[in-house]
Amino acid sequence: SLSDKLDNALHVLKGHGQITEVNVAETLKEVRRALVDADVNYKIAKEFTNTVKEKALGQNVLTALKPGQMMVKLVKDELTELMGGDAEGINLSGNPSIILMSGLQGSGKTTFSGKLANYLKTKKSKKPLLVACDVYRPAAINQLHVVGEQIDVEVFSDEGNQDPVAISKAAIAHAKANGHNVVIIDTAGRLAIDETMMTEIANIHKAIEPQETLFVVDSMTGQDAVNTAKTFNERLNFDGVILTKLDGDTRGGAAISIKSVVNKPIKFIGTGEKMDAIDVFYPSRMADRILGMGDVVSLVERAQEQYDEEEARKLQKKIAKNEFGFDDFLSQLQQIKKMGSMKDLMGMIPGAGKMLKDVDIDDDAFKHIEAIIHSMTPEERSKPAMINASRKKRIGKGSGTSVQQVNQLLKQFNQMSKMMKMMQGGGGRKMMQMMKN
Ligand code: GDP
Ligand code: MG
Repeated sequence: SLSDKLDNALHVLKGHGQITEVNVAETLKEVRRALVDADVNYKIAKEFTNTVKEKALGQNVLTALKPGQMMVKLVKDELTELMGGDAEGINLSGNPSIILMSGLQGSGKTTFSGKLANYLKTKKSKKPLLVACDVYRPAAINQLHVVGEQIDVEVFSDEGNQDPVAISKAAIAHAKANGHNVVIIDTAGRLAIDETMMTEIANIHKAIEPQETLFVVDSMTGQDAVNTAKTFNERLNFDGVILTKLDGDTRGGAAISIKSVVNKPIKFIGTGEKMDAIDVFYPSRMADRILGMGDVVSLVERAQEQYDEEEARKLQKKIAKNEFGFDDFLSQLQQIKKMGSMKDLMGMIPGAGKMLKDVDIDDDAFKHIEAIIHSMTPEERSKPAMINASRKKRIGKGSGTSVQQVNQLLKQFNQMSKMMKMMQGGGGRKMMQMMKN
């Protein structure tokens, strides 16, 4: 996937402390290839990497303290920018506000019409009216009625009437008479662009002058989506894009290209078939998603900031010489604590958030451990093997814990020492891995 490819491309930089100009060029070439593979137009991808390169050189990435992270951030910021900066809402200034859906058949217009009606009803306290203007297939009209029932929103239809302009006008009159302040018009689409469809939607558009014309597009259709968007935009000059089917295996390519080609904001995304699977589009979140890193980038940044490389090297030596003691253990704990609460930190790891929802990672557990270590003498800390039964009793009393808790910590410490010796790696991530177990 695009995520994996970009991740690979950036991996080189993430790991390295040193970046050379060659390194930057190579990495950006990989980034460009990844974007093109994900159906981002070649020209756009090239412009993108050129911009990132210029900025990288302008900001002296090569001499920066953390060049890898700086590049990752540059790529992310630039992707965000490319997809449109801040999130844009929907124009609801009309009374009623008229929203016209456009797009190919199967793009998700009917489903999104329902989602939007539900969103405006529940989140914005609106009273929407859904209008069935896909007049050629009775099944389509029925589909909208089913959707309307699900979300308890009225659906206006006129079966047998084949004139979508007339239906739209009647629906707007009905809305005015019945206190609906939003009218969402679901239209017919075809499998591919043809003149009949374009004329029909253009006629509706002209006749009802909607506040908001939305172009709905299936995000899985890649480069085709861009051409479709272009054609619809030429005829309708639409106000915003809806990217559907962004659940499952994401391809962000469409989002990047469409924004660049038509220069219209992406307003919402659809993330499933259910009526609540709608999200406001946030470019920076989409960039995260495309980069496949969740909040991993900031996790890496934070971990590296706090983890002193020099200390890591010293530690490695101690481990090798079997000199790792409780003082080192304590300073490791403090390193980890500096990075933030365990729960926060774990929450940044994609997937881990869900797992941790019911598990409580208790920062208090650290307090006990610290108390126990503080109750040890310096000698005991550096030579834990000398801690016998009577010492355990004294340490337990001194720290306000129990002999069992002291025993448990000693056991954990021994396991950890063994593991560290085995891994001989050091480094923040490995430490964290050990702390989790
Ligand atoms: P229309 O022809 O443009 O009106 O498209 P529909 O709304 O009928 O949707 C076509 C198909 O795509 C239906 O099976 C929908 O359930 C499905 N669909 C629409 N939006 C989404 C989405 O965001 N995610 C997923 N997984 N399926 C969707
Ligand atoms: Mg439909």
